[in-house]
Amino acid sequence: MERLGVMGGTFDPIHCGHLLLARSVRERLPLDRVLFVPAADPPHKDHRADIAASAHRWAMVERAIADEPGFEASPVELERNGKSYTVDSLRLLGEQNPGSELFLLIGTDNVSDMTTWHDPEGILELCTVVAGSRPTQAATRADPDLVSRIVFVETPVIDISSTHIRQRLRDGLPVRWLLPGGVEEYIRAERLYR
Ligand code: ATP
Ligand code: MG
Repeated sequence: MERLGVMGGTFDPIHCGHLLLARSVRERLPLDRVLFVPAADPPHKDHRADIAASAHRWAMVERAIADEPGFEASPVELERNGKSYTVDSLRLLGEQNPGSELFLLIGTDNVSDMTTWHDPEGILELCTVVAGSRPTQAATRADPDLVSRIVFVETPVIDISSTHIRQRLRDGLPVRWLLPGGVEEYIRAERLYR
């Protein structure tokens, strides 16, 4: 049975933290493939009106993963209207990939958020949730029963966020080595985050 990783995110923009998490978890579990799934209308980011257009975020994901075997992108959330709930995306991805066992890849910061996600019970029925290291406070707010069902994998800790990258771009600071060169070129060509 194929083992399929699902890496969701806003990817505004995708960066080396996302990529290293996915590659490390893919190696460690191991996984056959990892699908990067950009969110269309992230339920938890309603306060940010300035998210880059989904076409841009998709294009950056494609550039970031182009030469990495086993990495693919899925438009499953972009193609849907309305809110993207993880549980719905997992159900669709399961239908689109019959015979695949699903693994949802998240950073440790998302473990404490998981209690607030829509239908965490449904998520845990559809997949194995795998949390990789991200510098963050311990998951103190998380429901211990949920946490006990999450698989934790140690991955290299790399303290990069999209927020930090957007801020650096606004400030005219270099972003080289924080994200793939092809993504930086795209950002500059399309004049994003200025
Ligand atoms: P933003 O700053 O806009 O919130 P972000 O950098 O947190 O962006 P997201 O698209 O929100 O990126 O994150 C998608 C997933 O990637 C989440 O599960 C998050 O925990 C994980 N992630 C993000 N950055 C890292 C990192 N540096 N190391 C490990 N995991 C990460
Ligand atoms: Mg985030």
